[in-house]
Order: sequence, then structure tokens, then C-alpha cells
Amino acid sequence: MRYYLQDLKWQEVSEYLSRKDLILFPAGSVEQHGQHLPMITDSSWAIDVAESVAAREEVLISPPLPFGWSAHHMAYPGTITLKPETLTQVIMDVCNSLIFHGFKKILILNGHRVANLAPIEIAAAKLRNTTQAYVAVVDLALIVTEEIRQIFESDVGGFGHADEIETSFMLYKHPELVDMTKAGKNISPTISRFSNSFSIPDNALSGNRFFSTPTIEEWRKSTEPYGFKGDASLGTSEKGEKIFKAIVANVIEFIQEINAIEIQSVNKTAPF
Ligand SMILES: [Zn+2]
Repeated sequence: MRYYLQDLKWQEVSEYLSRKDLILFPAGSVEQHGQHLPMITDSSWAIDVAESVAAREEVLISPPLPFGWSAHHMAYPGTITLKPETLTQVIMDVCNSLIFHGFKKILILNGHRVANLAPIEIAAAKLRNTTQAYVAVVDLALIVTEEIRQIFESDVGGFGHADEIETSFMLYKHPELVDMTKAGKNISPTISRFSNSFSIPDNALSGNRFFSTPTIEEWRKSTEPYGFKGDASLGTSEKGEKIFKAIVANVIEFIQEINAIEIQSVNKTAPF
């Protein structure tokens, strides 16, 4: 079976829809990931997980959305960012197109961890309320919070960007794109539970948290000269394999719950 929607002919899509109504929608980012990981890191998470899940569950995958909300990473060359409202709108237009054709359940796999979540959650909430289709979001870090806590060895501030976890994942899935000679440690002494922006799922932290977004300049200052935050030197392929397999298993468990949901009538409106 071919799993990518864009590889099928329209009759094959129609045939799939006569049997199933779920599709996976990988969403990532094109953003700098330090000197040791490539721009495609977040999109790779989403695409690789989608491919493993699709092969096991025999479900289709929408064309992946490579771009995310990456404004803070504009401090380094190569990053491409959508505005958050554009991201919300693109997700809605893609999903409304899929719903128009008969997909009733869409599972968005977010590989750009926390940053993409708010715009995608807004899209999912609007889609659910306007179409009655089941649209859900899986953040690929948050769905393995417990497993990462077991594997993670970094100190507080270690859950950052292009960190131990992301480096491990890339070492497992795409080692040819990783340069471990540049994978160091960048845990700022100012990072605490009060200043570690985007730190909500930091597994080294406990207690009360809040959320603050850095400006481009603040991000540059806190990550110079590398572009990453955390302890990338602790990344290993073995950790990456454990995390990846846990994500796939948890997404499949969620899909089995979604399969049991009955969606009756769906409002279909093509984006114009
Ligand atoms: Zn990333």
C-alpha cells in the first residue's frame, strides 16, 4: 500500500474512503537546529513517525507541512517562518479540503514541539466546531513525557532546542545529517524555571511554570554562538530509538481510541 495521499490516483483515494476515514497530517518546521543538526529536524520527527504509524495501521498520510511558527529562530540564517495566523489558516484549508472529500478524522502530528501548538490547536478547535469532524493534535514531545523523563539525563535547562532528545532522535533516524563534533552543552546559568522560555515540558523541571516568548534578539543572546539550548552531547542513537518507538506506540494507542469514535454527519465547505 502507498501511504502518501500525493502518490495516489483519485480513484485510490475514493477506494480508501470507502473503507476508512482517518488521515495523518505531519507538521514541522524549517528552522536552524544549532551547528550539529539540520533545518529539517522537526519535520523529520513528524514525517518519520507518520510513516511508521501508517505502515502499521494502514492509514494515509497527507502531504507534510514543512513550515511552522519559528519566528524566534530568525536569529540564524536558513529559518523560514509562517505567521501563527498563517499556520492556523493553512492547517484549516488543508483539513477542510480533506474533510470535503470525506475524511472525518484527521490526526495532526506536530514535530515542532511547543511552538507550533497554539496555532494548530486553534485550527483544530475551529475545524471541530465548524465541521463536526474529529481533528486532534499530537505533540511528539508531549505524547512521550513519561518516557522522556526515564531517558533524559540533562540538567535543568537541558530540554531546550536541538538538545539531548532531538539529537538522539536524529542520530537514530538520520545520522548522516548530524555532526556530533559540534554537539556541545549550552545550559545558560540564567536558565531557571522562571526564565527558560518554551520550557513547559522540560523533564528536568518540577513545580510551577509559566510561559514567556523570547524576542529574536533574546533568543540569539541566549544561544550564541551555537544556536541550540540544552546538552546535545548527551544524545545517542540508542536513546533516539527508545523515544521514537515510544512515540509510535503511543500514537497507535491513540489511533485505536480514535477508531472507536463514531462521526455521523460532517459539514463540508471547500476553502474559497
Ligand atoms: Zn526541533
